[in-house]
Amino acid sequence: MAEKAKFQAIKGVRDILPPESALWNRVEQAAREVFGTFGFAEIRLPILEHVELFARSIGEETDVVSKEMYRFEDYESPDLDAQRKTLSLRHPSVERPFEVRFFAHNVDVLTTMMEDGLKTGQIPKTPENRILVLELRSTFYDFSKTFAPPDYKGVQNRLDSYVKHFQETALAVMLGDQLTLRPEATASVVRAYIEHGMQVLPGNVKLYYMGPMFRRERPQKGRYRQFYQIGAEVLGSSDAPGIDAEVIEMLMRLFERLKLKGAVLSLNSIGDKNCRPAYVEKLRAELQKVREQLGADCQRRIETNPLRVLDSKLEHEQPIIEKLPRIAENLCADCRAHYDEVKRQLGLRGIAYKENWRLVRGLDYYMRTTFEITATGLGSQNAVCGGGRYDGLVELLGGPATTKGIGFAIGTDRLILSLQEAGEGAAPGGPAGKADGPDVYLAWFGAAAQVAAIGLARRLRDAGFVVELPAVEMKFGKSLGLADRLKALHAVIVGDDELAAGIVTVKRLSDGTQQKLSEQELFSYLGVV
Ligand code: ATP
Ligand code: MG
Repeated sequence: MAEKAKFQAIKGVRDILPPESALWNRVEQAAREVFGTFGFAEIRLPILEHVELFARSIGEETDVVSKEMYRFEDYESPDLDAQRKTLSLRHPSVERPFEVRFFAHNVDVLTTMMEDGLKTGQIPKTPENRILVLELRSTFYDFSKTFAPPDYKGVQNRLDSYVKHFQETALAVMLGDQLTLRPEATASVVRAYIEHGMQVLPGNVKLYYMGPMFRRERPQKGRYRQFYQIGAEVLGSSDAPGIDAEVIEMLMRLFERLKLKGAVLSLNSIGDKNCRPAYVEKLRAELQKVREQLGADCQRRIETNPLRVLDSKLEHEQPIIEKLPRIAENLCADCRAHYDEVKRQLGLRGIAYKENWRLVRGLDYYMRTTFEITATGLGSQNAVCGGGRYDGLVELLGGPATTKGIGFAIGTDRLILSLQEAGEGAAPGGPAGKADGPDVYLAWFGAAAQVAAIGLARRLRDAGFVVELPAVEMKFGKSLGLADRLKALHAVIVGDDELAAGIVTVKRLSDGTQQKLSEQELFSYLGVV
């Protein structure tokens, strides 16, 4: 049995290999083209952001922020970290004075390094950090008095409690910024919008992005820890329902272009800060009455986020949820008018939708319009796109209160899965090609033929043909065998005879037909195949 490969991609993370990668490129290219026609431009965002950006926008209570982010402390002082780790491994004994002395020395050095770090800014100058470092210093003075050489008057349990206090205080100092791999990109777009003062730009700012997102979820079909999104956002002072409808229209155009099967648009309005709080309270009150019949997750959500109960897929909860009060009957007049107009505007664009009163988005910042698109071939992870309006987000992140926003994120992995299930293969190769292999396998024999072949390969590639040029000389049979295995459309053969006659031999590999052509004839022959 073959030995197990030594390195494997980590759980929930995968490689996207050819030929599948060609389909990814095609999807991304289609998005660029379609979004471009709606006046959207690409924004390229960093993959690392401050934890705080997502804690503030998505909400501390959500699964994404509370347990799914890949976060770490980004410090510029590895020495400091090494020092405090060393410190946390020491257990000095009063019986061995040199241990106590050595420990005291460690504490002193570490505290001095931290004091310097605070001055230079190598350590974040937060109030918490300042207090912790002061605490280390003053405890060190106390300690030095008690455990002053040459006599150690202290007893072991006093020493132990000092040691513990030093270790814990040192570990609590934040040596760097709290960073995370991004779990989504809307917050980053809004951060960039504010950071670069884009509110002064004319009209609505229309941006799209594509790239990987990271969430530590349970991996399964259509759910990964590194997954990809293609998303778009409209930011500006208008919240006109026509914007909502146009954003949805743009999505549907993309899915049409890609021939996505069974795309169904679900639509809802979840109210705004005027009407949602009252509805949430009403919902909470009703949920309290049926608490005992709900599962543990939904019981917890009664306190943390009652709206998320509507999202539950648990079989036995369904009849209970169906009887809960509905947001549609609890919208304020403004939200109701906005929602009605979104639906009318979708109608103007000939876009069909299904209203789903239970459609609430997973992230806290959404309001009013929410939507989701599902497709076939995906099992239970059938949502290929989620989106909605988030009018308060820009203000929440420190931008102007007048800026409204709406956007969506397509789960690219799921979109691709659905296209593959429907038999949408990879894009064909060069201009002549319908096969997965190269258009031309250029077999050469002899040093002079190699020179000619290099030149010919260059001219063919300039014309857009996919050319495979063997790097070393091979025997005729072996070379042509490789052409077959590579699924080349044509083998073009250059040997001494061909060179002398100023021609090439072209063999169509599907049926073995062979002919001798000049270079000009070769180009026109390949062009018309
Ligand atoms: P779901 O309910 O499927 O978990 P979500 O509400 O968490 O989705 P959003 O955060 O709104 O999803 O992201 C938008 C889209 O991104 C989803 O509709 C889905 O297609 C995709 N997506 C989200 N999480 C993952 C994941 N872990 N793996 C693959 N795709 C994902
Ligand atoms: Mg999710």
